[in-house]
Parts: sequence; C-alpha cells; structure tokens
Amino acid sequence: MKPANSILSGYGTTVFEVMSRLAIEHGSINLGQGFPDEDGPADVRRVAAEALESGPNQYPPMMGLPELRQAVAAHNKRFYGLEVDWQGQVMVTSGATEALADCLFGLIEPGDEAVLIEPLYDCYLPIVRRAGAIPRLVRVTPPDWRLDRRALEAAFSDKTKLILLNSPMNPAAKVFGPDELALIAELLERHDAYAVCDEVYEHILFDGRRHVPLMTLPGMAKRCLRIGSAGKSFSLTGWKVGYVTAAAELLASVAKSHQFVTFTTPPNLQKAVAFGLAKDDAYFDGLAADMQAKRDRIAAGLKRLGFTVIDCQGTYFITADFRPLGFDGDDVAFCRHITTEAGVTAVPVSAFYQSGDVDHFVRFCFCKKDELLDQALERLTRLFG
Ligand code: PMP
Ligand code: GLN
Repeated sequence: MKPANSILSGYGTTVFEVMSRLAIEHGSINLGQGFPDEDGPADVRRVAAEALESGPNQYPPMMGLPELRQAVAAHNKRFYGLEVDWQGQVMVTSGATEALADCLFGLIEPGDEAVLIEPLYDCYLPIVRRAGAIPRLVRVTPPDWRLDRRALEAAFSDKTKLILLNSPMNPAAKVFGPDELALIAELLERHDAYAVCDEVYEHILFDGRRHVPLMTLPGMAKRCLRIGSAGKSFSLTGWKVGYVTAAAELLASVAKSHQFVTFTTPPNLQKAVAFGLAKDDAYFDGLAADMQAKRDRIAAGLKRLGFTVIDCQGTYFITADFRPLGFDGDDVAFCRHITTEAGVTAVPVSAFYQSGDVDHFVRFCFCKKDELLDQALERLTRLFG
C-alpha cells in the first residue's frame, strides 16, 4: 500500500489527548487539557437551544450568519476601536483551529517562510509545514519568556510570508508588550509580511492588563488576520465557533480555504455566540476576574508545595518548575508520576518545543471549580508534602 502523507503521519497523538486519556484511565483530576469544568453562560446556551428547536438548521451562509458577523464587527469596535466592515472583513469558522488552518492554507505558497515563536500550540507547526512553508522558529523560555529582538529580526527575511503570533500565549501565559508588538509591526513592514494573530484568550488577561491586538498598530490593519474563539470567551470549548477579522482582500483568500474545508458552522451556535458577544462589560470583566482569582488560588497552592511558579499574565494556564520538589526525571515523567501517584494531571511544557531542553516545567490548567483546584492541591500535598 502507498504511504499516507509523510508530514502528518510523522506526528503522534497530540499531548492534550494523550494526557486526557491518561487522566481518565487513572481517574485523575485533569488539569492538563485546557477546558473549563463549568459550561459558559446559561443565557447563551438557551439561545442556542431555542435556535436549534425553532430552526432553520440548514446550511448558513458560507461567511457566517449576518448577525454573528455584525456582532464580531461590533465587538472589534467596542473593545479595540477597530472599524470593521462586517460583510467584507469577518468570517465565521468552526473554531479558532479551522480559522488558523484557513489563514495558513489560504496565504502560504510552498517555499514561503513562516516565523513562529516557541512554545507552540500543537497545531501550528503541522499546518504550517503541510501548507508547504519553511518554519523559522524563535523561542521564548521560562522563567521570563523574554523575546530576543535580534533572534526575531534574524528569523525574518524577504521570503517571510507571515508570522504566527499568539497573545496571550498558551502555555506561557505571556502577554506580548507594546515594545514587542512594535518590533513585530516594524518587521512586517520591512519584509512585507502578514501576521496570523491567534487571540483566543483576548478576554483573559490579569492584573489590569488590557488586550492590544497587533491589528490596532499603525499600518497593521491590512497585514493582520485576527482570530477569536467562542470556546474561550464563553467557556464553551466543545462548540468550536471561531471568527477571523481581516482586510477584505486578505479575507477573500482565506475564505477560499474555508469553503473547501468546512464551508460553514452550526447555525444555532452562531446565533448564540452573536448574543454572547453583545453581553455587557460585566460579563467580560467577570470572566477575567474569575480566572485571576483561580490563578491566585492555584499559584499560592503550588508555591506552598515548593514549586517555582512562573508569572502568569493571561490565559487559563500556569507554568511551574518542579525541580525544587526534588523529582528525579523530566517533565513527561513528572506528569505521568503525578497522574498515577497523586491523581492529578498536568501537561509537560516540553511538548510545546521542538527540542527537549526545556524539560522541567509543567502546565496546569486552572479554569476549574475552586473545590476541584483545592482537591488537586491536597492530592499533590499528600504526595509531596
Ligand atoms: N489557539 C490556542 C492558543 C488555543 O489554546 C486553542 C485552544 N483550544 C485554540 C487555538 C483552538 O481554539 P478552538 O477550540 O476554538 O479551535
Ligand atoms: N487549547 C487546549 C489546550 O491548550 C486544548 C485543545 C485541544 O485539546 N486540541 O490545552
């Protein structure tokens, strides 16, 4: 038999699935894969349920229901002052993952270069490579996740088609600052490149920080494709509703990919997300405040246990160095150890890097009920305390 595609078959099962399966096998508290243990707003779910009952449940327009595209445009204006034409500049996708794939497949020509910043969310590199681009990796590493200006400059060339930027960043919980965004903008101008901006955690920033889309910087509206996800903004990860905002000419290329991949997204969910995006500030502020309290809870608990806890500026992930606990093994071994011995699961941070040298940090997901976080900390205390 002829072999399947060599790029994709070279990858194993993604770390999130591997760790979740292991957690189920051992009846462990799963702080690995990123998903909340409470479903998002009841009113948003009710709109979806009612729309499912009342219909229509047939193919919505390819670019998305007008009311959701209007809501995405209004959300861009309300939070970031971006003027967006909902008809030409917004497209609805089946999750941010599809949006990422559409952008990359729609823009990349084989032989182009793509700049990526490690740690990398699992799907970035496989899609970039499958689209035919040559990845140019730059890295930020714990504990400070500092972006080296020279390294970033060196990764760009006139062959650079795009950079993939994730801010707030999973798993680093890093929010890219004004100087870093300005540098990226300068490099995009200098090399005539685009930015695919994965901003799925746009509403989960802490300590008074506000999300600043790269797209809002001077000259960047025509170069950026901004991706959001209802999964993160409404704690409904299973819905897989995403949205892309980009200049009309850019979005047209991305829509070419979307039309042949999923073409559309369930209409009742689109309707409910449109309702959700119009929720008042108290909802969005509340989401960030809730997550910040959970961050503080888990950070304090991990510190008490002896972990070195890394600064967490956004997202619902926190990274911790387990070396002070005296564990003799790497991060993969540590995650297996705490799953089987304590009944708590985390994700090894090495999974987000191409080489295995960042090998003593683990990522805990904290978008969970306080009782569950406390129980996880108690279990770890029994093992290490
Ligand atoms: N990007 C990042 C950085 C993520 O953490 C996730 C997590 N799920 C996604 C994209 C995918 O989002 P979605 O579930 O909407 O496809
Ligand atoms: N984004 C989630 C995480 O980082 C997982 C998504 C997935 O399982 N594909 O854990």
